[in-house]
Amino acid sequence: MPPEVQKTEEEWRRELSPAQFQVLRQKGTEPAFTGAYVHSKEDGAYRCAACGAVLFASDAKFDSGTGWPSFTEPAVAENVELASDTSYGMARTEVRCKRCGSHLGHVFDDGPGPTGMRYCINSVALDLDTKNAAE
Ligand code: FE
Repeated sequence: MPPEVQKTEEEWRRELSPAQFQVLRQKGTEPAFTGAYVHSKEDGAYRCAACGAVLFASDAKFDSGTGWPSFTEPAVAENVELASDTSYGMARTEVRCKRCGSHLGHVFDDGPGPTGMRYCINSVALDLDTKNAAE
């Protein structure tokens, strides 16, 4: 299924900051411990910085010590898509926004709690919406 929100890379480049574009559209990774949400404990819904889809809830956020915002599960499973990623000689699972196809980060199976999952997401790929904590 193609993403619901489709824009040309030129359109994305115009709409996003250079740092957002590099992560979201070019599968980049922000340096550890540099993102706005690494230590954030604020209540809210983390939306996709490219299209606004609700992706993660502050309830599922935990301190992984990795330097990136980490979540045990998506807030809205249908908004998140996983894909196999073998770049850089590693076998990883990429996490994408299903609505716009943008790269968010990776998911690993060494997380805490019942899911055992650790969604390791770039801060720059997220927008914390503090008004919509319950969405
Ligand atoms: Fe999106």
